[in-house]
Amino acid sequence: MNSPSSSSPTALRTTGQQLRRRSWAEPWKIKMVEPIKLTTAEQRTAAMRAAGYNTFLLRSEDVYIDLLTDSGTSAMSDWQWAGLMLGDEAYAGSKNYYHLEEAVSRHYGYKHLIPTHQGRGAEHILSQIMIRPGDTVPGNMYFTTTRFHQEHAGATFVDVVIDEGHDPASPHPFKGNVDLAKLERVLTTAKHVPYACLAATVNMAGGQPVSMANAHAVHELCARHSVPVMMDATRAVENAWFIKCREPGYAEKTCAEILREFCSYTDGCTMSGKKDALVNIGGWLSLNDDALAEKARNLVVVFEGLHTYGGMAGRDMEAMARGIEESVQDDHMRARVGQVEYLGELLLAAGVPIVAPIGGHAIYLDARRFYPDMPQDNFPAQTLASELYLDAGVRAMERGIVSAGRDAKTGQNHHPKLELVRLTIPRRVYTQAHMDVVAESVEAVFQQTKKPRGLRMVYEPEYLRFFQARFEPI
Ligand SMILES: *Cc1c(COP(=O)(O)O)cnc(C)c1O
Repeated sequence: MNSPSSSSPTALRTTGQQLRRRSWAEPWKIKMVEPIKLTTAEQRTAAMRAAGYNTFLLRSEDVYIDLLTDSGTSAMSDWQWAGLMLGDEAYAGSKNYYHLEEAVSRHYGYKHLIPTHQGRGAEHILSQIMIRPGDTVPGNMYFTTTRFHQEHAGATFVDVVIDEGHDPASPHPFKGNVDLAKLERVLTTAKHVPYACLAATVNMAGGQPVSMANAHAVHELCARHSVPVMMDATRAVENAWFIKCREPGYAEKTCAEILREFCSYTDGCTMSGKKDALVNIGGWLSLNDDALAEKARNLVVVFEGLHTYGGMAGRDMEAMARGIEESVQDDHMRARVGQVEYLGELLLAAGVPIVAPIGGHAIYLDARRFYPDMPQDNFPAQTLASELYLDAGVRAMERGIVSAGRDAKTGQNHHPKLELVRLTIPRRVYTQAHMDVVAESVEAVFQQTKKPRGLRMVYEPEYLRFFQARFEPI
C-alpha cells in the first residue's frame, strides 16, 4: 500500500534499482471474513430500477463493494469485540460509561461527556440548548444533519469556509480552514451568534482538514466576541493526521498529541463515533461549561436515554471507548488515510477528475466533468452514482444538488457549486485489490462514449431528501 504524501503508485510498481522506498501494509491481519456477492449486469439494472436510482435504496446484499459511507461500516478489532462481552447493561452508572468518559477525557480533553445514540443526537441536543430563533450559526461549510438541527432550532447557517473549500481543483493543503474575515463579518453583524461550528475534517468539501493555526485563530477571534467554538469532531483524528503530515512543526508529534491540542481550541464537540471511533453505532456531546452540560443532561434523558447511556448499550460504549484508543494510533491513521490516497492516486493516474487534494475518508469524483453538458437540474452526481453501480456493483453516494436540499425559507433548491460523487472508504474493511477494482470501474464509467442524459426526481421527501428520494432516467 502506498503511504500518504509519497510517490505515485506507478513509482511503487517499478522494481529493482528504481524502487526508492519500501512498501508497507496495514497494521492488522484478517481473522474473520464476510462473503460479498458478484452480480450480473442484468441483476444490477433490475436492482437500480427497484431502488429508484438512489443508491441509498439498494439492498446491501446486491452491492459488491460498498463505498456508500464510512459511517458505522468500519471493522472492529478483536479487542473491541472482546469488549462487547464486558458490557455492563445496568440502566444507570454502567462501568462502560466510565470507561468511555475516561477515553474521551484522555484523548479529546473535554470536561463533560453526554453520550448519545449517534452524532445527530448530539447535534440535536446542542442546537436545542444553545440556539434561539433568529440566531446565526457560522460554520466551515454545512453538513446535512448539523445544519438541519441548527435550522430546526431556528438558526440561520452561514458558511464561512475559505473560498478554496468550494474549488475542487484548488491544491490548498487545508481547504477546511475558516475564512477569518468571513467569520468576523458574521460575529460583528449578526444579532446573536450562540456558537461557531468548526468541522474537522470538512466532509462536504471532500474530507479536507483544518490547520492547527486556523483552529487557534478561530478560537481567539471568537473569544474576543465571547462566542464559544463547538467542534464537529466526527473525523478530528483524521484531521490530526493531516496536520502531522502537512503543517510545519507537527511532524514529530503523535496524532494523539495533535488531537489534544486541536480540541483545546474548542469549547465542546459533537461526535459521531461511527466514523473515527471505529464502531458501528454511538456518539457523544462534550462540553466544558458546567451550566450548559447540566442543560444537556436534562435534555438527553428525554430524547436519547439516561445521561450515562444516551441510547447506547453498555457494550456499545465499551466498544467505542476501545475504538477511541485504537483510532489515535499513528500506525492506524497511516493505513487508514494511506488507503484512501492509494485509490485517489490510481484515479489521478487514469486522468479521472477528482477533488484535490485527496481527502481523509473518501475520494470525491467531480461529476460535472464526467458530464460537462448535463444541466445541474438533471442531477449529474446522482446519475454518476447510479452508473457506477450499474458498471460493477460499486455503491457510492451523491453529494450535490440532491444532498443540498431546499432553502428552508424560500423553498428553492440550493444550487451548490460542487456536484460530487463520494467513494467513501470504510476503515479496516477492504483490501488494496478492492481498491484496484473500484478504480478500474470508475475509469470505465469516465470513458463511456454514450453518456446518460440525467435523472428526473419523481419522489421528494420533506427532510434530508437524498436518503429516500426516487428518480427515473430522462
Ligand atoms: C456522520 C456525520 C454526522 C452525523 O453523525 P451520525 O452519527 O450519522 O448521526 C455529523 N457530522 C459529520 C461531519 C458527519 O460526517
